Amino acid sequence: MNGPSRGDRPGCDRSREMATGSGDASIAAATDREWRKRLTPEQYRVVRKGWTERAFTGRYWNHKGDGAYLCVGCGTTLFDSAAKFDSGTGWPSFHSPAAPGQVGEREDRKFFMRRTEVVCNRCGAHLGHVFPDGPAPTGLRYCINSAALDFRARDEG
Ligand SMILES: [Zn+2]
Repeated sequence: MNGPSRGDRPGCDRSREMATGSGDASIAAATDREWRKRLTPEQYRVVRKGWTERAFTGRYWNHKGDGAYLCVGCGTTLFDSAAKFDSGTGWPSFHSPAAPGQVGEREDRKFFMRRTEVVCNRCGAHLGHVFPDGPAPTGLRYCINSAALDFRARDEG
């Protein structure tokens, strides 16, 4: 079972190359101490340590607002509420990212499982995982931690 796109990155060492080339070097190079200052302890554990928040405890699993979900680490728009669906899992779930290139993927072999981790391509924040059991049109389920997201309501008119 392969991820929906390339999951064959050999290691983590070179995974930041894309981010540092795009004028966001200060974000990519933020020290661990800066991350701790910028994020709540819960956010830090999720986006920097790859933890998963407990189901049904996050801010957004049952959130129905119309707008965009941004990376809590750098403010990049990652998902749109139009792609959100009720997966019944207790985590915010989306069938596709807001735009290609903003959400990166890498193989995650933690806990003896083979899963596809999804990360913010700009700052490297851990977001969650993507599974091949989602609804149309993509058949994918991006299972994302609320702690990795900030919601911004869409401006009408
Ligand atoms: Zn980010």
